Amino acid sequence: MRPAVWVAGFLVLVLAVGAYGSQELLQLQTDDKQWVMPGKDYSQTRFSTLSQITATNVKNLRPAWTFSTGTLRGHEGAPLVIGDTMYVHTSFPNNVYALELKGPDVGKIKWAYLPKQDPSVQAVACCDNVNRGLSFADGKVFLSQLDGHLVALNAQTGKEIWKAQNADPKVGATMTSAPHIYKDKVIVGVSGGEFGVRGHVSAYNVRDGKRVWRAYSMGPDEDVLLADDFNQANPHFGQRNQGTATWKGDQWKTGGGTTWGWYAFDPQLNLFYYGTGNPSTWNPSQRPGDNKWSMTIFARDVDSGKAKWAYQMTPWDAWDYDGVNEMILADLNIGGKTVKAVVHFDRNGFGYTLDRTNGSLLVAEKFDPDVNWATGVDKRTGRPIEVAAMRTQAGRNSQGVCPAALGSKDQQPAAFSPRTKLFYVPTNHVCMDYEPFEVKYTAGQPYVGATLRMFPGPGGHMGAVIAWDAATGKIAWSNKERFSAWSGTLVTATDLVFYGTLEGYMKALDAKTGKELWRFKTPSGIIGNPITYIGPDGKQYVAILSGVGGWAGIGLAAGLEGDSEGLGAVGAYKKLAEYTTLGGVLTVFSLP
Ligand code: CA
Repeated sequence: MRPAVWVAGFLVLVLAVGAYGSQELLQLQTDDKQWVMPGKDYSQTRFSTLSQITATNVKNLRPAWTFSTGTLRGHEGAPLVIGDTMYVHTSFPNNVYALELKGPDVGKIKWAYLPKQDPSVQAVACCDNVNRGLSFADGKVFLSQLDGHLVALNAQTGKEIWKAQNADPKVGATMTSAPHIYKDKVIVGVSGGEFGVRGHVSAYNVRDGKRVWRAYSMGPDEDVLLADDFNQANPHFGQRNQGTATWKGDQWKTGGGTTWGWYAFDPQLNLFYYGTGNPSTWNPSQRPGDNKWSMTIFARDVDSGKAKWAYQMTPWDAWDYDGVNEMILADLNIGGKTVKAVVHFDRNGFGYTLDRTNGSLLVAEKFDPDVNWATGVDKRTGRPIEVAAMRTQAGRNSQGVCPAALGSKDQQPAAFSPRTKLFYVPTNHVCMDYEPFEVKYTAGQPYVGATLRMFPGPGGHMGAVIAWDAATGKIAWSNKERFSAWSGTLVTATDLVFYGTLEGYMKALDAKTGKELWRFKTPSGIIGNPITYIGPDGKQYVAILSGVGGWAGIGLAAGLEGDSEGLGAVGAYKKLAEYTTLGGVLTVFSLP
């Protein structure tokens, strides 16, 4: 059966038996003809078995069709492909377009959803008003709006089915990340770590948008939702009362630890995995303590929301090394044993491999050798071994700290190939000077408390795409980039790695060697994530959103000029203006 027929048939069946969400997506995520969720599958591998495009013919890849999204600011995330329809999101005001994939009218707009949002919410988006895309289940398309609303749309018509308020922009809480659908629940986080938002994840019922549970990143145990056996395998990671005891007074109430990354789900364990961001403010002298559970990987039960385990990567953060980056699930051979692993490339520059059943730390190594705030991670305690001179504090300008606050990588998600057993990681290579200062909390106002200046790391380049062996913690190869590699990666069964660059080049590398095989200049800088699918004509396509912006492109996006603006990133990326300008465009490639 063709995908569209198959999907239509399945939806009828789903409605008939009253099951929804879980079984449907469990099947759909294995169909590589479509791209039904942000990370391609529940494990977030961004790996596709499609094989028409190969190392030999990729040089012939060319645009088949394009689509202007009509908005100018940063386009992170990727479209979805369900049957004969592609669903495309935009930066603020978060428009959604359903596009025809069939026949001579390819790219025709089937429907558009144009939400009306109060434009003032843009003032509480820290680092450009991006959106990271959509999710699909139960005949619905789910959208997180910047103004904190989670919306369910009819996938056939674009009509709003339900709408729930998940975040309050009046206190600086917004939504930028894609929703994640696990079983009958839509799981969403919040942004606002630079506004003193107390982070949380929440589950909403796919059918009617009713909130089922909410789990905070910090605060009393009953708010953090801890399972009875929480951290049983690793009691030294912390167990009871850590969400309050590791904070001075009631600072946990404005504690940060927001939750705007890419989550992964293990249906067998019924656990999902995500990271929490920086503690608020950026001035560590003001908030002594480990500040748990900011900067933490959480594993939670989908049905109850209860945490089975948690591991804090950067206790008492002093650099804004948000822990929100993607979680990728893979079964790896470590020391002759197959381990159910979760792999995470943190902003702090360490690549972590943990046993995802219980949180045990297996590997923690630098994925950029120039990281200098810590020499390593103590495997026994799980804590970083810090370099004292690099710990920032009020009244001192710590200079030459690597990585910069935007991390050895930011949210741009890596891919995993079960063929090569390697992770393909888009990275930043940027360092900083960082000077914290005292700041007062006012709801809805920036709660930053540090002055930053960022600049290229040693060698002068600002990024690379690397291949990483998560079983050993070693770099297999590295392909340097002029600017940060701020796009996600995609890897195929033909051992091709696709990604985009901030200048706007869409590239394909050989997954085994890192050699560049093809590039094409798209209309704007790329911070989106590539996808691949089979069109109704049976051909393999590769698609990417260009549209520069995000933290790295904030200078271009917001028209900023000084180092003090854009949280220190503007000066470092000034030369981007020599390569690209703003504008959201989808480019879809195929072989002739
Ligand atoms: Ca942050």
